[in-house]
Amino acid sequence: MTMTTTESVIAFNRPHMTGEEAGLIAAALAERSLEGDGRYTGRATELLTKMVGASSALLTTSCSHALDMSALLLDLEPGDEVVMPSFTFPSTANAYALRGAVPVFVDVRPDTLNMDELQIEAAITPRTKAIVVVHYGGVACEMDTVMAIADRHGLPVIEDNSHGLGASYRGRPLGSIGVMATQSFHATKNAHCGEGGALLFNDAGYLKRAEIIREKGTNRRQFFRGEIDKYQWMDLGSSFLPSDVLAACLVAQLENFAAIQARRLQVWDVYQEQLAGWARENGVVQPTVPAECAHPAHLYYLLLPDLERRTALMAHLAGRGVKTAFHYLPLHSAPAGRRYGRTVEGGCPLTERVADQLLRLPVYTDLSDHDVERVLDGVTSFRV
Ligand SMILES: *Cc1c(COP(=O)(O)O)cnc(C)c1O
Repeated sequence: MTMTTTESVIAFNRPHMTGEEAGLIAAALAERSLEGDGRYTGRATELLTKMVGASSALLTTSCSHALDMSALLLDLEPGDEVVMPSFTFPSTANAYALRGAVPVFVDVRPDTLNMDELQIEAAITPRTKAIVVVHYGGVACEMDTVMAIADRHGLPVIEDNSHGLGASYRGRPLGSIGVMATQSFHATKNAHCGEGGALLFNDAGYLKRAEIIREKGTNRRQFFRGEIDKYQWMDLGSSFLPSDVLAACLVAQLENFAAIQARRLQVWDVYQEQLAGWARENGVVQPTVPAECAHPAHLYYLLLPDLERRTALMAHLAGRGVKTAFHYLPLHSAPAGRRYGRTVEGGCPLTERVADQLLRLPVYTDLSDHDVERVLDGVTSFRV
């Protein structure tokens, strides 16, 4: 099939609206519930906590801010180290570098593109204070091994679970395994409110101080619960709580998460099935999902043989009105990564390679069957 001039461009991402956002936002406004920690924040928090099976959660203004809070909770000091993948979004590293800690970058596994758990131990030193994992595309890291290493060294594990809402590892929801986990509700994520996030706890010991950090370093939340008769400056903190209006938007998304996911998973499965023959014939690698992982169809990627051919396929698809995207530029070789981070011995050669090879196809709830057909025709009409 060739593209006709009447066919519209297929966007790389389109934030899905369930149809219930406007009503809930209007209700929040009518109730004058605009500041943080109102009724809708409560509802969204409860939905999220149940979905992930975490012991508690706090909504935040972004995943970046949830990561910032995790760094404050770890009491990092200048020169402390935090082990993490190089193949992630800058926020994962920023949070800890902002506290003066050194992000220590580890390479990825070639199959899941997650941090290679077998290289974590080589990155650990007496200054290591935490291990941060990112479940790439919501396909779980090898968490049994990661947790065993963390236990052996007495280190907390933080899950940057921005991609992994609704996913699981050996039947356990992602976000419920580390001591803390962060979620993103940015418009590019599966459930969103434009800008938003959450910090989840699986160790009750962090919650009390986290509430203070999130409320400008004050015990204001305890005051509003009637537990104390005045509130004051208790600790370092900032304003990490979102408006209740945005929480109302998130309630709509979380209540309809099953429907959002059903379509995303359908699109993902069609790509995986329909592109298998083409990928084999053209030396293109499709995503690997280990048997112990249930993924949330956060993204779908192809690994082309090299940058030149990735660029060529991207242009070929753009010519047919299909927008695609590459993904993370390695952190270890980025200007700030070199300035603030350290890289494990041997570097991150796989991270550098996949950053050049990876192309993401559109995956979202609003894609029609016809859109999906056009993406498939576009890809399979390309000879690598
Ligand atoms: C999206 C994302 C973030 C940042 O999320 P925000 O909510 O935009 O701050 C952090 N880490 C990863 C892995 C992400 O994908």
